[in-house]
Amino acid sequence: MERSHYTFGLIGFPLDHSISPEIHRAALQDLGLDGDYHLYPVPALPGGRGLISGLLERMRASELQGLNVTIPHKENIIQFLDDLTPEAKAIGAANTIFPRGDSLVGDNTDAEGFYTDLLRLEFPAKRHLSALVLGAGGSARAVVYALAKHGWEVVIAARRPEQAEGLASSLSAASEVSPVNIQPGVLTPDYLRALDPADLLVNTTPIGMSPEVQALPWPTEIPFPPDARVYDLVYNPAVTELVRAARAMGHVAIGGSGMLVEQAALAFERWTGLAAPRKAMRAAIARIAQLDW
Ligand code: NAP
Repeated sequence: MERSHYTFGLIGFPLDHSISPEIHRAALQDLGLDGDYHLYPVPALPGGRGLISGLLERMRASELQGLNVTIPHKENIIQFLDDLTPEAKAIGAANTIFPRGDSLVGDNTDAEGFYTDLLRLEFPAKRHLSALVLGAGGSARAVVYALAKHGWEVVIAARRPEQAEGLASSLSAASEVSPVNIQPGVLTPDYLRALDPADLLVNTTPIGMSPEVQALPWPTEIPFPPDARVYDLVYNPAVTELVRAARAMGHVAIGGSGMLVEQAALAFERWTGLAAPRKAMRAAIARIAQLDW
């Protein structure tokens, strides 16, 4: 049922550079809905515990219709919630909370947001596509989960191999994911050079993000996998050094702004039950990108 007023917000810390308010306000405005999206800076636990409980109480009282969650709370928010979607459960992190009956449900829209946007790149029809994922942090969990769920073979290359091993073993335990599909590895030139060529290279590290815009997550001394599409989760700047370098070598390469729109659109749909106006949300990001990215 359509409401007369929506209140959404974001829990995290720090939130100074968040563009979520602009994206969701653009969606509300485009659909002619009354509402707003607030930033709720909440310090890490245990200090932030009272603030989180208070915000969730407001949601139970229908004062808030939806919350996003970001660093440092994506994992520890789970203990405060009544239920999780299969994605949030398998990934072990929630970026979206929505009410269902009397329950508060944690969801993870990063995985579907990434995979939906990834499908803009056309891949050859093969039985098993393969991906090489750089980094094994929070966003890598969602990316690797989405790829493995859709039958991709995934190699995770991380500077701390134990982090890649932890991610591979925890996701292999998730029921939709076949254990043979995820291989942990290390982010060194020798290791990368020896791998079979992947169909997709994904950067989930923050390397290349503003202000360090010249940095590359891929070693300059080795070529990119010959036929790989390249997906950089970094969206600030819109065209990263990795995307620029890959395009210069003839690869199809895109940055993370499409995933940013898609994960926000999916959250908006959980909260409102309405189709999110992705075009207006994309335009909001483009406006901000032109201003100061
Ligand atoms: P995170 O949890 O901190 O994980 C970052 C990963 O990159 C970790 O494995 C980290 O290893 C590794 N890393 C960091 N610096 C490195 C370096 N110099 N060399 C090698 N590895 C390095 O961060 P995250 O939340 O996954 O975010 C990563 C990036 O993705 C950010 O730029 C973020 O803005 C972007 N992102 C985009 C979207 C989107 O919608 N497009 C969504 C989520 C995230 P250590 O643990 O050893 O540091």
